[in-house]
Amino acid sequence: MRYIHHATILTPHETIADGAVLVDRGRIAAVGPTINIPAPEEAEMIDATGLTLVPGFIDLQLNGGFGHDFTQNPETIWEVAAQLPQTGVTTFLPTLITSPLHVVGQAQKQLQEERPATFRGAEPLGLHLEGPFLNPAKKGAHNPKWLRPPSLEAIRPWTAENGVRLVTLAPELPDALDLITVLVSRGIVVSAGHSQANLEQAQAGFKAGIRYVTHLFNAMSAMHHREPGLVAAALSHNHLTVGLIADGRHVHPAWIQLAWQLTGPHRLNLVTDAMAALLMPPGTYHLADQLVTVDDDGAHLADGPLAGSILPLDQAVRNLITYTGCTLAEAITTVTATPADLLGLGQRKGRIIPNANADLLLLDGRQRVQIALINGEIIYKRE
Ligand code: ZN
Repeated sequence: MRYIHHATILTPHETIADGAVLVDRGRIAAVGPTINIPAPEEAEMIDATGLTLVPGFIDLQLNGGFGHDFTQNPETIWEVAAQLPQTGVTTFLPTLITSPLHVVGQAQKQLQEERPATFRGAEPLGLHLEGPFLNPAKKGAHNPKWLRPPSLEAIRPWTAENGVRLVTLAPELPDALDLITVLVSRGIVVSAGHSQANLEQAQAGFKAGIRYVTHLFNAMSAMHHREPGLVAAALSHNHLTVGLIADGRHVHPAWIQLAWQLTGPHRLNLVTDAMAALLMPPGTYHLADQLVTVDDDGAHLADGPLAGSILPLDQAVRNLITYTGCTLAEAITTVTATPADLLGLGQRKGRIIPNANADLLLLDGRQRVQIALINGEIIYKRE
């Protein structure tokens, strides 16, 4: 058992000024004002005076980090996962970009059969497959060689039980609507992205079951006042969750502020789209089978397109506060309760409530991670 007390707790739907959380067998047993939560004698104590306790972050789009790329080497998922908690991430979807189909199979096998016995780190919940059913005109940094039209045969091994949680596709491609229906029936969240969909095509995709949009504004037709496209379709839809890369480079802060005003904490979801150079020095790295140049500004292919980000998720949270003036609780919601709800895990992850997994962060006054706990165990502690 573990007893964290005297924290400011953001559950995140409410704020408890001097709060305590009791953790028992990896789960949250009780949460409330410190004076109301008794400390069992045998519990290990953490005095969190001056710190803020929030749920662990969930990143729905992460291609790699710490020198490793998941599409190139799916077996590195575990090494990256072990280091992610320093960025606040306690749960994530390892993301594969467009690649030969057998790579997906290798990554599924990693998650299902190859989990190291001694593994401690962020939980890879299942894959985000970004591609291969993308619009070649909006390929971004994806290798066009592996793009293909939607195919029921290709997705035969893809189910939530087999480790596929989210699929990004372009809804305007032929047969895409049929694919969306099938994927949703298998428990997979379907997202629109790398797409040239016009308003009607985007709305048809939402009607077929799309519930998310991958990195809003990036790799989709630009919003024009006479051609609103996927951006306007997504922003004007009341129940769609939109992913956003808030590094200030993928999307101008002015657009982030506007998107925030139109969506808010329950529809906006910050992602990193981080690639191998996350928390690494500038240099040359892989994104799938392509070489990417990384400098202080970010990651890009030799011919220009952005190739993922080098943004840690805790920095994205701080950026959102800077760009929009939102509260810490609101910014935290975009990376906790909102992605948990999208994945149907709202009672188990993303909130500090009884019975939820004890995935918790203690943040200092500058919103940096001081301690990260996963299932009640301390996985990271800042030196
Ligand atoms: Zn992308």
